[in-house]
Parts: sequence; C-alpha cells; structure tokens
Amino acid sequence: MLAVRRYSATAARNSSEKIIGFIGLGNMGAHMARNLLRSGHRVLVHDQLSEPVDKLKAEGADVAGSSAEVAAASQRIVTMVPSSPHVREVYTGANGIFSAVQKGSLLIDSSTIDPSVSQEIGKLAREKGADFVDAPVSGGVPAAEKAELTFMVGGSTEAYEEAKKVLESMGKKIFHCGDIGMGEAVKICNNMVLAITMIGTAEAMNLGMRLGLDPKLLADVMNVSTGQSWSSQKYNPVPGVVPGVPASNNYDGGFGAALMLKDLKLGQNAAFETSSSTLMGSVATHVYQILCKQGYSRKDFSSIFHFLQSEK
Ligand code: NAD
Repeated sequence: MLAVRRYSATAARNSSEKIIGFIGLGNMGAHMARNLLRSGHRVLVHDQLSEPVDKLKAEGADVAGSSAEVAAASQRIVTMVPSSPHVREVYTGANGIFSAVQKGSLLIDSSTIDPSVSQEIGKLAREKGADFVDAPVSGGVPAAEKAELTFMVGGSTEAYEEAKKVLESMGKKIFHCGDIGMGEAVKICNNMVLAITMIGTAEAMNLGMRLGLDPKLLADVMNVSTGQSWSSQKYNPVPGVVPGVPASNNYDGGFGAALMLKDLKLGQNAAFETSSSTLMGSVATHVYQILCKQGYSRKDFSSIFHFLQSEK
C-alpha cells in the first residue's frame, strides 16, 4: 500500500486549491513533479508503480493511492502518462480523475496523445464542471530536469492563463496554440521533424565514422554548419559526444523509441485525415517500427545510431 499522508476528500477540500496533483512519474513526470516541489508547491503524486512514488515521497511529496484520490484532494492536476489509452484510463477509468473531480478544477494533460482524445477528455471535463487543457512538452529529459521545458497549450484563454501559473515552475516557454487539441497538433508536427533529424544525424555520424572521422570533430563542424540541429548539437546520438545525454548512458532514460514511434503514428494519422504528404515522416515511422522490432523499444530514440553502427 502506497499511502502515506493520505487525504480523505472532505479533510482535503479546504486546502485542495493549494495542492497540485501529479499523475505519471516516469522519465519526464518525476522531474516535473520535483520542480513543482522545489518551487514551494505542495504536491500530491500518484503512479501505478511504487518505485517512483517512493522517491518523490522521500523528497517531500504527498502520496495518493489512485487518480481518483488525487482528484478528490487537489483542484489543479497535471497528468504525464505514455499515450492515449493511458490518458483515457487515468481520466475515465473506474478509479480515474472523473470519478472524483471537483467542480472548478483545472486538469492539465502534458502527455503526447491524439488531439481528438484531448478534445474528448476536454468535453467530459466540461460536463463535470472542470476545465481542461492539453499541454504537451518539448525539450526532453534534460529540459524536464532543469525546469526548461517548452509547453504547447490548447484550451480557452482563461484556462491557459490559469495553467501558466502551474507550468511556469516546470518550463521556460509556454505557448497558447489555440483550442483544446492544438497543443498536441504542434507537438506532433515538432516530433515528426525531430525523428527525421535524428535519423539523418545518426546516418551522417555513422557514415563519417566509417570514413575515418573522429565523431566529436564531425559533430563540432556540423554544429557550426548547415547540418546543425537539436539532434546533432544537444542530443547527439554517438556515445561520448555530448555528456549526460542517453547516448552517453547506454541509451537509457530519455525518450523511448516506442514513444517516438507512437508520436510518428499520430503524425501519420493526422496526415491521412488532412490529406497531407509526409513522405519523410512516413519513412521515419517505418524506421522506428523496425528499431522497436529489433529490441530497442525501451531504449532512447537516439539508439537508432547504435542500430546503424551494429550493421555490418
Ligand atoms: P514513461 O513511460 O517514462 O512514464 C510514464 C509513467 O506513467 C510511468 O511511470 C507509468 O507507470 C505511469 N502510468 C502509466 N499509466 C498510468 C496509470 N493508469 N496510472 C498511473 N500512472 C500511470 O514516459 P515519459 O518518457 O515520462 O513520457 C510521458 C509522456 O511525455 C509521453 O506521452 C511522451 O510521449 C511525452 N514526452 C516524453 C519526452 C521524453 O523525452 N521522455 C519528451 C517529450 C514528451
């Protein structure tokens, strides 16, 4: 049983406006919840796994045994789970947020999911007298750790202004992208570019190294030349080129290849629905599908370099 300073709905209601609930303490969420704590907020956390919960508890967070318990005790809640089905479960499941949400609550989903699912959750929230914004993030684990995330928010202007007060403790740049779902729309486009540049960078680094180049020198030149991108400069896929990134840590932590594949599939669905040509996005989707099938799904998405390098 996880519960430590557990809250009953009634006992907590008086102070619930001041507590921030946080659900999903994975690679990103744990850092985000920690930054809320560091900013002086009282944070009530929940995850289906006990290990990340115990870590946050040791750092001063309060603990809830379910998403419903979080909703009963806090009126501002951030969710950060892998994909659309997880978001549906956290919000609409038997012990989900909507089973106990308080009127006037603000629900902020930072997961990267299908914009139509955000819109569906937003509609259900309104029916419960609560407000909802989608607020996916960019910047990866390093930015989550340093509270330097970029947030892309979809929702009413009023909800955006309220959400900003929470998001400011976890990020540096906060954009209002339009109505519910539009934050996700921006995020899906961004990640399609990210996957394409990561594959391109990995291919170029692998080629250069096979030509006999020192990878650090190649990256240094690329990073002041036209081949520069976030993938080459901040998150280079070759071990040792950039300290502290997953490539320099056996591709552990970071942004899982399976999550990148999920985002690329969201992009392909959106492209189909809008009759948009996304040829490179389609190739990138296939590349990440192959990578995941080769056993890299839990490794960081920059492990595409490792896969290419291991090819004879
Ligand atoms: P993760 O898999 O590391 O963490 C997800 C967490 O959610 C896990 O701890 C899991 O136990 C928890 N969870 C899942 N279902 C739950 C449920 N029903 N109830 C309670 N907890 C539940 O994922 P992550 O890397 O932190 O990514 C989270 C989201 O952020 C994803 O949508 C991802 O696409 C997006 N994102 C990730 C990165 C990155 O670099 N990792 C960057 C930008 C955006």
